[in-house]
Amino acid sequence: MGYRRNKSSAILSILLVLSVSASFSIRSAAFMPVYRCNNTEKAIALTFDDGPHPKYTPRILDILDKYDIKATFFFIGQNIVYYRDTAKMVYERGHEIGNHTYDHTIISKCSPEKVEEEISENDRMITSINGIGSSLFRPPQGSYRKSDLDIINKLGYRTVLWSLDTEDWKHTSPERIYRYVTGNIKDGDIILFHDYISGENTTIPALEILIPELLREGYRFVTVSELIARSG
Ligand SMILES: [Zn+2]
Repeated sequence: MGYRRNKSSAILSILLVLSVSASFSIRSAAFMPVYRCNNTEKAIALTFDDGPHPKYTPRILDILDKYDIKATFFFIGQNIVYYRDTAKMVYERGHEIGNHTYDHTIISKCSPEKVEEEISENDRMITSINGIGSSLFRPPQGSYRKSDLDIINKLGYRTVLWSLDTEDWKHTSPERIYRYVTGNIKDGDIILFHDYISGENTTIPALEILIPELLREGYRFVTVSELIARSG
């Protein structure tokens, strides 16, 4: 009797371990940050951080419109307050808005309460622009702790990083950005740009030479949400 009880409890333990690991793997698929996506059939996503900015963002929108391309803009909440009309312009021209904290705070240095506040406060700002908020979060400097992912996920957000960093934030020359991206681009890549950089902006001239070349190579530009949806 004792043996049988031990045996059945051992089987129960195994079943429990299997079910916990199965639920963990299902949870982790949505929980882990996205760097790039697989099987997207030459779809790629342009992303722009740190805006909106009244001088640079509209110029980027004009280039995207010229090629009928949609992109994802990770806004800072404080900049939505300053440049509300520019934020609305991004939404009305059909682009996706992501959350980049309220104040460009490095969340890995904050208390859990502050992390939640930074994301929630910006979610309210984004909702005031597009009526629905966002489900994509990009931590400033790509810096986060594992514990931050719990908070991000609890707030209904998916963490989005990138697979190609153009380093436009370092004022990298347009030609160098062009060579780096065209030399490394792959199906499903998420490309990091900025629509606001303090000082000389190389993003706009880089886009002007890069987009027509990637289109010529057969790449299609989609929003991050669409890229994730395509990869299944
Ligand atoms: Zn940033």
